[in-house]
Amino acid sequence: MAENKIVLHPVDPWAILQDPSLLLDSLRQRGLIGAAYSHFGELHYKAGPRFRELVSFKAASGGGGEPAHVSLLETMADPGFLGGANTQLPQCPGCQGRLADWRAQLSEWQLDRHRYAWVCRRCGRKLRVEQLDWLRNGGIARYALDLWGIHENEAVPSPELLEALRALTAQVWTYFYYRL
Ligand SMILES: [Zn+2]
Repeated sequence: MAENKIVLHPVDPWAILQDPSLLLDSLRQRGLIGAAYSHFGELHYKAGPRFRELVSFKAASGGGGEPAHVSLLETMADPGFLGGANTQLPQCPGCQGRLADWRAQLSEWQLDRHRYAWVCRRCGRKLRVEQLDWLRNGGIARYALDLWGIHENEAVPSPELLEALRALTAQVWTYFYYRL
């Protein structure tokens, strides 16, 4: 079964979510999420009454697919790569070159996340992990908010949602599209 989602996460890969229930309560009050339910054994939330205001769908999108739902990936011990099958080569912010060896560098980084410096083979620039530009097809974080049932480029998080997440967590957030 194809699974598509928007993954929202803090830009800072080391950020932790101190109070998951406070975040979920706030998102419920804002109308992003509704009732909790078991989604194949995982705790998910139905789309709330303002889901389609907080997530901006393109006009052509009829929303004919699966109903949208939401889940929270709570803080992991270490930052991890959260991308799916649609991940593309990340881009160097200096020269716009692509890091063709990113999977090998990811393995190296996982051995020493604090000290490993990513390298752009094209221009030689050293990069911190959060400087990689995944072109909205990948990301690295310790926790994330998943908006399920949304295909790539079908919708974007509204400025209101991104600002709410920033205010609730004191972190700047970004997002990408995930396909299993
Ligand atoms: Zn470069």
